[in-house]
Amino acid sequence: MSLCQACGLCCNGVMFHTVRLQPADSAKALAALGLKLKRKKGRDYILQPCPAFRENQCSIYAARPERCRLFECRQLQRVTAGEITEATALEKIRDVQQRVAHLDVLLAQAGTTNAKRPLAKRCEKILAEPPADHTARTLRDDIDHAMRELDAMLDRDFRLVPKLAEETA
Ligand code: SF4
Ligand code: SF4
Repeated sequence: MSLCQACGLCCNGVMFHTVRLQPADSAKALAALGLKLKRKKGRDYILQPCPAFRENQCSIYAARPERCRLFECRQLQRVTAGEITEATALEKIRDVQQRVAHLDVLLAQAGTTNAKRPLAKRCEKILAEPPADHTARTLRDDIDHAMRELDAMLDRDFRLVPKLAEETA
């Protein structure tokens, strides 16, 4: 749906770190399509941000993993059920995107610019480092606050089962 084309939060490393593969998925075939995989405790996962997410859409749509096929965030479900309009959901998505853009600026100021890492992991890296001075401490606190607010919003308005929807990388 057009909502997803304006969003991508479930593919770009903002909402999830990984997507667990299901028995119907072929890890080998997905790797051949350019997806990054990891195996943990006997289970296969694709990593996010997903390399197949290009120009705001899934470039391997017909071959995407089963969980990707089945996933609908809370906003999408509510639009489909007629509980909210697409415009209302889009407003929520724009709000999240602005928060992500703000965090990107803060992380760049803190020297963490690796866009191939999930957003929360980049934040965790900064928060784990002892601040060098008062300015770094203030920046660290700003990142912590912004990430907490964003995460709470994602839990409330997008994720279906907070933090359990996907395991962390
Ligand atoms: S987070 Fe929801 S609206 Fe956004 S791309 Fe995923 S399913 Fe679509
Ligand atoms: S395979 Fe497609 S739908 Fe699944 S995470 Fe990657 S871009 Fe998103």
